[in-house]
Amino acid sequence: YTAKGSRSTTVIFDETALARRLEENQLSLALVLAADRNEFVVHYQQKVDLPTGAHLGFEALVRWQHPELGLLAPGRFLPLMEGTQLIRGMTRAVIAAVGRDLKAWKAAGLTPGPVSINLPETLLVGDEGYEFFAGTIRENGLEWRDFAVEITEDVFLNRSADQILATVARFHKHGVSISLDDFGTGFASLVHLRDFPFDELKIDRSFVDGIGRDARSEQIIRAMIHLAQSLGKRCVAEGIETEGQRRFLKDAGCDVGQGYHFARPEPAALAGKRLPRQAAAIDRHTAAGAPAA
Ligand code: C2E
Ligand code: MG
Ligand code: MG
Ligand code: MG
Repeated sequence: YTAKGSRSTTVIFDETALARRLEENQLSLALVLAADRNEFVVHYQQKVDLPTGAHLGFEALVRWQHPELGLLAPGRFLPLMEGTQLIRGMTRAVIAAVGRDLKAWKAAGLTPGPVSINLPETLLVGDEGYEFFAGTIRENGLEWRDFAVEITEDVFLNRSADQILATVARFHKHGVSISLDDFGTGFASLVHLRDFPFDELKIDRSFVDGIGRDARSEQIIRAMIHLAQSLGKRCVAEGIETEGQRRFLKDAGCDVGQGYHFARPEPAALAGKRLPRQAAAIDRHTAAGAPAA
C-alpha cells in the first residue's frame, strides 16, 4: 500500500474490520455444527487444598477443537453463542464427556473428587440442565456428588433470583456443591450470598493478580475470605500463578487454590495422572447437603 491520504487509511481499517466480521461469521456457522461433530473437548484443571496441596477435584473447562484453527479457548467462541441456544448443546456435550471421564477414572480405582461444571444462565431456569446431569449420572453409574456446579454472578443480571434459586436448590439437595464464580466482579449482591445455598466462593483472578503489587486487592481478598468464613462457606482462589500468591492466600485462610502454579487445564489423560487412590482430604471439602439420592 502507498497510502496517499486518509482515504487509503480508511480502506485498510475497513478491510480489517470486514475480515474480522467474516471470520466471526464463519466461526458462528461452524459452531452450529460443533456439538454434532463432537468437536467440544473438556480440559480439567485441578483444585488443591491450600494448606496441604492435596488434590480435591477438578474444574471442567471447555475447548473447541476446530477442524482448521486448532484448539480454541472459550473466550474465542462463547461470546458468539450469546443469545443462541447453541450453549445448551455445548453444555450437554461437556456434561456427557465429564460423565464418561469420571466413570473411567472411578473404574480405574482413582479418586477424582467432584468435577465442577460451569452452568450457563439458560440452564439455570427450567428442568433441562438438571435433566442433563440426571441422565449422565444414570448412564454412567455416578453419584450427584461426583459433580459440582459453578455459576457466575452475571446470571443475576437477566434472570429473577427466584428462578435460579429453584434450580440451584435442587442440585444442592442432592449434595452437589454450588460455587459462586468470579466473586466480586459481577452482579451478585449480599442478598444472594444470604439467600442462596452457596458452598463455595471463588475469588476472581483479577484480585489474586494484585497480590504483592496492590494493597487494596490484598485487603479485599482478606475481607472476602473473612466473609466466606463467617458464612461457613469454602473460599477458593482462582488464577494462582506464583508461590508468593499461594503463600499469601494460605496465610490469609483461603481453603482451596486453583491456578497455573499447581496445574494448567489439561486433557483427561494428563489430568488423570494427578489423581490419588485414597480420598484423604476430599471428604472435608464436599458439599454439606443431604446424602446423594
Ligand atoms: P472461569 O470459570 O472463571 O474459569 C477460570 C479460567 O481461568 C479458565 O479460563 C482457566 O483456564 C483460567 N485460569 C486458571 N488458572 C489460571 C492462571 O493461573 N492464570 C491465568 N491467566 N488463567 C488461569 P478458560 O478455560 O479460558 O475459560 C474462561 C471462561 O469460560 C471460564 O471462566 C468460564 O466462565 C467459561 N467456561 C469455560 N468452560 C465452560 C463451560 O464448559 N461452560 C460454560 N458455560 N462456560 C465455560
Ligand atoms: Mg468457573
Ligand atoms: Mg472463575
Ligand atoms: Mg474468572
